[in-house]
Amino acid sequence: MAAWVQLVYSKDTQVNISSEFSIIKKYLSGIGTSYLTSNGINLAIGDDCAVIAANSKLLISTDTSVAGVHFLKSMPAESIAYRSVATALSDIAAMGGNPVAFNLSLVMPNFNPSWMKNFRKGLQKISREFQFPLIGGDLAKGPLQISVTVLGKPHTKILLRSNAQSGDILCLSGALGSGYIGFKDYKKGKVLNNKTKSYLFPTAQINYGQEISSIASSAIDISDGIVQDLSHLISSSGVGCNLDLDLVPVVDQKFTKQCLEFGDDYKLLFTVPPKKLSTLQANLNSLNEKCHTIGVMGGKKLIINKNRFGLFRSWDHFK
Ligand code: ADP
Ligand code: MG
Repeated sequence: MAAWVQLVYSKDTQVNISSEFSIIKKYLSGIGTSYLTSNGINLAIGDDCAVIAANSKLLISTDTSVAGVHFLKSMPAESIAYRSVATALSDIAAMGGNPVAFNLSLVMPNFNPSWMKNFRKGLQKISREFQFPLIGGDLAKGPLQISVTVLGKPHTKILLRSNAQSGDILCLSGALGSGYIGFKDYKKGKVLNNKTKSYLFPTAQINYGQEISSIASSAIDISDGIVQDLSHLISSSGVGCNLDLDLVPVVDQKFTKQCLEFGDDYKLLFTVPPKKLSTLQANLNSLNEKCHTIGVMGGKKLIINKNRFGLFRSWDHFK
């Protein structure tokens, strides 16, 4: 039992709804239970561990979202919850995987029933959308922070960052900048509209990742801006790239630089052997998805063509 429980109990002895276990039971249990059996979960929340009957490789990834760093405290709790899971889920998309379940560690400064109710709503929304359940987690008192571990299974091939080959075409799954424009707009108006939606409720491109999984040679999701994430792909694969910035679509040309640098778009950046490109594009078209070709892999370093924006500021927490 956490120290917080004693703390809450001592302050609130009559209404023990505020105890750690009651919060878990009321607000964090029963999310996506209808997907437990189909996703191979034998045991979910309630015991010391969840139990998964894994008959294949599992993809596992954790993402931590800190208030004031990754999201604004003032954002609706529904969005904070949804976003924290979506950003973690984006890593499963980038591996071409299928979501199986998630764990959630929640650190919060106090217990507010209506905030918690909305937080639950966000968890239910994403659980339903991707048909995967919440199977465990942790709860503690402290500055607001959410850490999500997602589990997935490969759909076909596992897409690595490290397998881009010289000659492969560099592709992007959609226009960049919806995160930036959404964030800017939200800070101004604090409302949910078509623009802020893409920041408050970002899309993890799970279907897209699965669609490209058998054909693409490598992939990464763009969380930190295209140059930074492309650099990761390049260094993992040991091959350079010729990127043509004029070919990178952005959602608002008045803010091209910011759209390219901001990140938080969760689009997929991937490489495709040239011979397979037309097949892949046809497959994606039939799903109503776009595939933008923005460069070619080769050489030893990253060459950014048509860079009229000066040096790129890339997001690095430790700089
Ligand atoms: P322990 O003390 O063994 O770490 P807890 O009391 O923290 O266990 O948790 C009890 C049960 O509730 C566990 O099954 C755990 O996975 C689940 N749980 C705790 N926090 C959360 C959370 N934030 N979301 C979902 N499940 C949670
Ligand atoms: Mg235990």
